[in-house]
Amino acid sequence: MSYKEFSLKIAPIKSVSPSRFLGLQKCALREIWGLSNSPLLPSLPYNYFGKLVHLMFENSSNGIVNGLPALEAFWAIELDKIEREMKSDELAAHFLPLSKWIKNFHVKRQICFKHSLKLFENIALHKINDGQSALTTYTGPELQLKTLDGKIAGKVDFIRDNGFGIEIIDYKTGAIFEDDGVIKADYKVQLKIYAGIYHEVYNELPSKLIVVGLNGEEYPIDFTKNECAELLLGARKLFDDIDSCIKNKNSSELFAQPSLDNCKYCQYRSACQKYWQNMPASGLFCDLRGKVKDIVPVLNGTISIVLDNDNEDIRIRGINKECHKFYNFIIGDDVMVFNLRLDANATFTTTATTTFY
Ligand code: SF4
Repeated sequence: MSYKEFSLKIAPIKSVSPSRFLGLQKCALREIWGLSNSPLLPSLPYNYFGKLVHLMFENSSNGIVNGLPALEAFWAIELDKIEREMKSDELAAHFLPLSKWIKNFHVKRQICFKHSLKLFENIALHKINDGQSALTTYTGPELQLKTLDGKIAGKVDFIRDNGFGIEIIDYKTGAIFEDDGVIKADYKVQLKIYAGIYHEVYNELPSKLIVVGLNGEEYPIDFTKNECAELLLGARKLFDDIDSCIKNKNSSELFAQPSLDNCKYCQYRSACQKYWQNMPASGLFCDLRGKVKDIVPVLNGTISIVLDNDNEDIRIRGINKECHKFYNFIIGDDVMVFNLRLDANATFTTTATTTFY
């Protein structure tokens, strides 16, 4: 079999970001590839939407955009930029316009505006307080926090002084809770590491760590000084381990940790040998490999193909040239297919994120 091979770059890491710490712990290869290579599988439209909402929050809390007309104008400009970027990306162009793919797009837009206005008011208040109390602590929107050795670094959405201590705040545009109703572990760990950095640099432990949702609701996270310090220590050790592996030019396979949880949303599955070696032949997320045995045009304009997958014939329906790039295979080609859906009648059908290599 001769499947497409990818040669992805592995560059030295400059620092570990608190937001990527758990991801690095789970599968370092996914994160390291993500630093220097474009994704090989599509992002969901919600990721682009989240980027837009985050930009709105960032600029409102920076005091750059205020008032509904300014917000509407900013939204239109940034949405246009994101959609143009998507249009030039073969993996994303079919998700246009974004409004068609995001459920309740206009309602979500209004909620985003409402929260952006609130953020602007917060920053105005922050400036007044700052002038009156001559704060000596490090507060404000979009602040870089970095350990003294520079190994752990990242940007905090907002740091404010509530009069009794420092609050570290992070805006989230997606789901905040796990299925069991607790705040996602990634978010908790991220904020606790920021608290550890703040304490190391300013010799003051924040009084509160807060996650803010798209609706503006604030969710505090419990923490102790010790767990923040331990997480910071763990992040430093992880930086040292990965840094030395990269500098020693160890095989990239050493970094790969395939598992259901780790690989599910990985956009580099097509390049990862360890993924294919460890996954069942029929693929865990409806990813398949095989030799093209038959190509059948269908009356509705789509095509279906039959793949020889370890001597088992597997039919894939619903291949559409508008949506599914890189499908120009011919009989006898070895192809990899990602993100299919397994139907009740045991046939595979394409989805909006199906990709062929
Ligand atoms: S496919 Fe799995 S093992 Fe490979 S890089 Fe992605 S997450 Fe890691």
